[in-house]
Amino acid sequence: MTHAFCPRFTYFEIVLGIDQKEGKRGTIQSGRAYHSRHSTTNKTYKIKNIQGKKHIELLLYSKKHSFSGKIDEAIETENEILLIERKYSDHILLEPSVKTQLGLLAILAEENIGKKVNNALMIFDKKERIEIPIKITKKIKQQALLMLQKTNHTINSGNIPYSKHDNRCTNCCYRKICT
Ligand code: SF4
Repeated sequence: MTHAFCPRFTYFEIVLGIDQKEGKRGTIQSGRAYHSRHSTTNKTYKIKNIQGKKHIELLLYSKKHSFSGKIDEAIETENEILLIERKYSDHILLEPSVKTQLGLLAILAEENIGKKVNNALMIFDKKERIEIPIKITKKIKQQALLMLQKTNHTINSGNIPYSKHDNRCTNCCYRKICT
């Protein structure tokens, strides 16, 4: 996800070992509290009109592609798995990093649970609650795997990847050392 946001995060955080210190940021803490609330107090709550078995905080590993990840929330129906991803935000943005996340989680769910993931539901929930359905296509999964390969390439080569400087840099924790 972070590599899709900016490939230099992989370089600074993993190659050089410089922590983002994201745990100290207020927005991150609020987001974590929000996720924790849903994991601990809403264990049986299901999205209306969707019947099935609810999974929460599934830590999974892909033997096929050698990566792990955590599915915060999903509903397993008779024929498929619906991923549910919550964002503590009012900014309705389906950034490449979100699609990378959903693509990789879909691959993990399909390999480990053995059912197709064709759909996901993004829930933006801060001042207002907005649900956005997303089709998890083959292309989303392929692009997510490509991002995983690029991440591994940066880690294995140890070279700083190219990234243009733009609006993302304004609040970036690495902006003082990223030239
Ligand atoms: S300052 Fe900009 S280019 Fe550098 S790591 Fe941050 S977001 Fe990426």
